[in-house]
Amino acid sequence: MEKDSKIYVAGHRGLVGSAILRRLQAAGFTRLLTRTRSQLDLRDQAAVDAFFAAERPDYVFLAAAKVGGILANATYPAAFIYDNLEIQNHVIHAAYRYGTQKLLFLGSSCIYPRLAPQPLKEEYLLTGPLEETNQWYAIAKIAGIKMVQAYRRQYGFRGISLMPTNLYGPGDNFDLQTSHVLPALLRKFHEAKVDAAPRVVVWGTGAPRREFLHVDDLADAALFLMEHYDGEEIINVGVGEDLTIRELAELIKEVVGYRGDIVFDTSKPDGTPRKLLDVSRLHQLGWRAKIPLREGLAQTYAWYLEHQAEG
Ligand code: GDP
Repeated sequence: MEKDSKIYVAGHRGLVGSAILRRLQAAGFTRLLTRTRSQLDLRDQAAVDAFFAAERPDYVFLAAAKVGGILANATYPAAFIYDNLEIQNHVIHAAYRYGTQKLLFLGSSCIYPRLAPQPLKEEYLLTGPLEETNQWYAIAKIAGIKMVQAYRRQYGFRGISLMPTNLYGPGDNFDLQTSHVLPALLRKFHEAKVDAAPRVVVWGTGAPRREFLHVDDLADAALFLMEHYDGEEIINVGVGEDLTIRELAELIKEVVGYRGDIVFDTSKPDGTPRKLLDVSRLHQLGWRAKIPLREGLAQTYAWYLEHQAEG
């Protein structure tokens, strides 16, 4: 990419898109294109087409998606499958049609079979049944991966797909009904500290294992791979280490400085038991995560304290 290439970041207000935008700005790219949802609804094919016809971006980071935690996926399955299929179909097709040189598509670690061997290698895609709770989202993302591969095969379109592990960081969703576990627990422990509450309720058994990558690391990997990788195979992006939800809760309790108890609500689902990514392919390509979890948690907690009034 040249510093004056026209680069469209779809979803620039989200956790991932905003981090990619910051990273591109920091790297000195000057022609960054963005549109808010009210300016451009990516589920509207005619609007997406008109936008690409007028702007003809050279590069596209497709970070727009409907995302959410375990409860949001269970509550809005139709929105998760429809919105994501629409958004990615329209953007990928328009990018191909209007001469985009390269597009980066973001998937998710939930595309892998629920009980695949760990750590998850890229080739485990479509080798077994999916986790029930987020299958709608996963199916849409798998369709996106296949679409990017199909456009490369049939049209020579240069699309690449990254599979990030669970992400967190500034700009995350802290709504307890729809968020992922990490921001939910930061908020729960913070509020319990402020209210001097005796306990914090954590969903599930605490036994599932999750891997967490700071979104600034993901944005760095996205820029790196956009510039240095051009292949059909999907690439996992993670840190290569995980911890249990119980260990995460204890770490967050410490970072927040809460002194009460942790209790587990086992009426809530655990979701998939483990989804640790195998990141050897990423390491071979020359990229590694840099932000340690404790440091990233402290930084995200500071961001939350500064911005909670806005939520
Ligand atoms: P997942 O990674 O797709 O399963 O999505 P989540 O990040 O929402 O959940 C990860 C794990 O954390 C699941 O086992 C949840 O039951 C557990 N968990 C514990 N407390 C919470 C909470 O307050 N919110 C959420 N979203 N998950 C929680």
